[in-house]
Amino acid sequence: MERGSDLRGELKDLVAALKNHVSNEGDSFSPVSRLTVKGAPVRRREEEKQGDLLESKPKAAAGARKTPLNLKGVREDLGECTRCPLSRTRKNLVFGEGSATAKLVFVGEAPGEEEDNQGRPFVGRAGQLLTKIIHAMGLKREEVYICNILKCRPPGNRNPKEDEIATCEPFLVKQLEAINPDIICALGTFAAKTLLRTEAPISSIRGKFLDYHGRKLMPTYHPAYLLRNPDAKKLVWEDVQKIMKIL
Ligand code: SF4
Repeated sequence: MERGSDLRGELKDLVAALKNHVSNEGDSFSPVSRLTVKGAPVRRREEEKQGDLLESKPKAAAGARKTPLNLKGVREDLGECTRCPLSRTRKNLVFGEGSATAKLVFVGEAPGEEEDNQGRPFVGRAGQLLTKIIHAMGLKREEVYICNILKCRPPGNRNPKEDEIATCEPFLVKQLEAINPDIICALGTFAAKTLLRTEAPISSIRGKFLDYHGRKLMPTYHPAYLLRNPDAKKLVWEDVQKIMKIL
């Protein structure tokens, strides 16, 4: 009898230790803790002020495993967002589109007029050029994912403001975490500056793979820039060829 109760006691301790271990693993490998951008503590506090978007769903019971992010969940979290003033002037929120498991994600700056009208990213003239670039890479739009730093159009296509980026970017971080691409292609100055936390001009950083939290990030010119400067198309072609080699 005494031996039986010893065994039961040991078994109980073992189960408790195992539960504790699993719970800790869940925390240290959670998507949010793995992909935290530089300066994120500030952004994170911003999110927390807004009701902690990461946990807008009912909080899991203490010790339960966290489920990985998925794009649908990120979209639901974003909702009909009114977190920044751009919500008052947009026609449509432009979340992003493409494969939820894409190996390559293009990140631009913000929706323009046509994107705002349609609620889809990169569908204006610059978008048509991006589509041609994607096809020239031997891919279809549906095979990659396309989105922007900001999900709503700044009036008159003005440059994004710091506070708008700070409010909106956490959703991009979550999108990237959910998709888990091998390569991110940052299109233009704002996307590169925001993702890489750099003030370096796009001309000096384009064409090189840089590190974005363990992922390869290739900065290149924005297709809108190519429409104004067609000579730069060959540079973008060089950049995307480097991406193709890896894909
Ligand atoms: S730009 Fe981003 S943060 Fe601002 S309203 Fe649109 S979705 Fe919300």
